[in-house]
Amino acid sequence: MSSLFPALEAGSERPALRFGDRSLTYGELRSAAAAAAARLGGAERVAVWATPAPETAVAVVAALLAGVPAVPLNPRTGERELAHILDDSRPSLVLAAPGDELPPALAGPERVDLTLSGAPDLPPPTGPEDPGAPALIVYTSGTTGPPKGAVLPRRAIATTLDALADAWAWTSDDVLVHALPLFHVHGLILGILGPLRRGGSVRHLGTFTTGGVARELAGGGTMLFGVPTMYHRIAEALDDDPQLAKALAGARLLVSGSAALPVHDHRRIAALTGRRVIERYGMTETLMNTSVRADDPEPRTGSVGLPLPGVDLRLVEEDGTEITVYDGETVGEIQVRGPNLFTGYLNRPDATAAAFDGPWFRTGDMAVRDTDGSVRIVGRRATDLIKSGGYKIGAGEIENALLGHPAVREAAVTGEPDADLGERIVAWIVPADPSAPPSGRELADHVAAQLAPHKRPRTVRYLDVLPRNDMGKIMKRALHG
Ligand code: ATP
Ligand code: MG
Repeated sequence: MSSLFPALEAGSERPALRFGDRSLTYGELRSAAAAAAARLGGAERVAVWATPAPETAVAVVAALLAGVPAVPLNPRTGERELAHILDDSRPSLVLAAPGDELPPALAGPERVDLTLSGAPDLPPPTGPEDPGAPALIVYTSGTTGPPKGAVLPRRAIATTLDALADAWAWTSDDVLVHALPLFHVHGLILGILGPLRRGGSVRHLGTFTTGGVARELAGGGTMLFGVPTMYHRIAEALDDDPQLAKALAGARLLVSGSAALPVHDHRRIAALTGRRVIERYGMTETLMNTSVRADDPEPRTGSVGLPLPGVDLRLVEEDGTEITVYDGETVGEIQVRGPNLFTGYLNRPDATAAAFDGPWFRTGDMAVRDTDGSVRIVGRRATDLIKSGGYKIGAGEIENALLGHPAVREAAVTGEPDADLGERIVAWIVPADPSAPPSGRELADHVAAQLAPHKRPRTVRYLDVLPRNDMGKIMKRALHG
């Protein structure tokens, strides 16, 4: 295990994790994780009840030390989805913090309560060093269908974290301000294992508030990782919160991922703080594929940057042609290969086979590349590419245009079957002021003026909120259902 967390092996007095008023140094984390690892002996697979607490980090590090694959569980998952994940992954143990109440679905696996006080003289066990051995099984977000368990080898975790360190100049001096859940790649692998691999530290807010972000960034935090809904709330709060603007201006790095960051929020944060948020693009199955570099002099609004070191990325058109001339316009599916990839979906050889073209993983995400090779995501093939009147239209650019209208708070764009056009563009709008929603005509004209006449929404529907999952991703499949 020495290869994953060198700073943990050294076990020093340096701070590693802080959750509210509970914190652990590297030495304390090492002994807590070693004590927990000693209790996993022989287990084939363990589940982790992944609350935003230090026990979750201890559990995952312990499983990595012991070489036992861990399945992080979302404590807010509904009974049905939880039952699906447990039935699929069949853990023999569930690791939890003392006092956590577990739902009836978790009555099967034996419970192991974790404490933060370990045995100081217990050496960390050394699990298998095989870089291809399964380390974590992380379920996809379930945005487009039931979550699938992606089996992630140690190699994928190590290489993705090192590629990000290169792109972001991420060092042991960095203090990450963290407010994401700990059961997905973003919050767990990037947000917890990332700082531990670098030898830096994490301060977790428990729940996201703009006040908490301002406090932690002003108090020594150097980086913030967030999803677009967080940056949207930050953008909205900036006008009335000079402390927040000052704290963001002083941060070294602001990173967004998991879904597209609306251009409007990117520009607003840049205008009010002088700092641009950089975007990276990844998936549960591939970990990170591209990122804007921290030292990039361009603002890169709406771009997810260049492929990370070690990642091969290509765009493939519908007829199978690989796009070799980058013109910023020709849309193709992103396919990737490299040491960052998962080894397959748990129990789903059919889905695994369907996801690969030889060594290339088909992401299902559509993109264009600018002349310098940097990637702009158009959207998901399944839900964001609308075929209307002979055109292929990306939902994302229409959403960005709508979000630029002052009377629009949230927007999602989908396609619906249409006898004339093949598909018709439908805009789902949450108005800024529900008592005075903008008219459909006004919004359609706004889009036509910004983009092109054939991109105007034909139908506008009004909602109080958009359906989103725990990562703040818009669940487009719930809009029509
Ligand atoms: P499921 O696969 O279960 O339907 P999901 O695809 O949302 O859910 P994740 O693996 O968590 O599950 O998310 C990966 C997806 O998130 C990518 O395929 C892409 O569509 C989207 N994504 C991630 N980062 C970005 C980004 N910076 N910009 C746009 N989209 C992004
Ligand atoms: Mg997916």
